[in-house]
Amino acid sequence: FSSEEQTENYLFKIVLVGDSAVGKSNLLARFARDEFYPNSKSTIGVEFQTQKMEINGKEVKAQIWDTAGQERFRAVTSAYYRGAVGALLVYDITRRQTFESIGRWLNELYTHSDMNVVTMLVGNKSDLKDSRRCRPSEGKAFAKSKGLFFIETSALDSSNVSAAFQTVVREIYSILS
Ligand code: GDP
Ligand code: MG
Repeated sequence: FSSEEQTENYLFKIVLVGDSAVGKSNLLARFARDEFYPNSKSTIGVEFQTQKMEINGKEVKAQIWDTAGQERFRAVTSAYYRGAVGALLVYDITRRQTFESIGRWLNELYTHSDMNVVTMLVGNKSDLKDSRRCRPSEGKAFAKSKGLFFIETSALDSSNVSAAFQTVVREIYSILS
């Protein structure tokens, strides 16, 4: 849908992107339903979930898309990205490899969606302090170099999960309204 339609309806498509098992589905489950799945496989994924939010007294709907695990095969289709105005680019702070994949995911995002897509780099699993392999400063520096927002979250203990989604939605709102 066009940005005109999105402004009228305040329905913003936001995509979750990143390597398998970084916590994308659980971030959505925590944000939209306040749930957490300790042993989730890719099967808990819904295609998308619509979450109502209030921004400046206006009702805004965030339509948040989750992969059904197809990122394992590097086969996320262009339809997944189509029309997205926001993205959460997620890595797992305990697995360095998932941070190193972010550049590729960003390229894929920019290939299939508008370059102006509001993007938040998310270092998830901040509760696993003893297994940390990525410093917050590294995430921050990468985000700064690419013009992205940055936040660390935990879908397990809820920290910063709402803030991650809300920051993206607020920014989209302020651009489109
Ligand atoms: P996805 O493949 O990116 O959708 O990842 P999932 O949401 O399925 O999560 C993969 C695994 O990581 C599951 O076992 C989750 O319980 C776990 N997980 C997700 N988020 C967190 C988190 O913030 N902290 C911890 N400790 N585990 C998490
Ligand atoms: Mg998933």
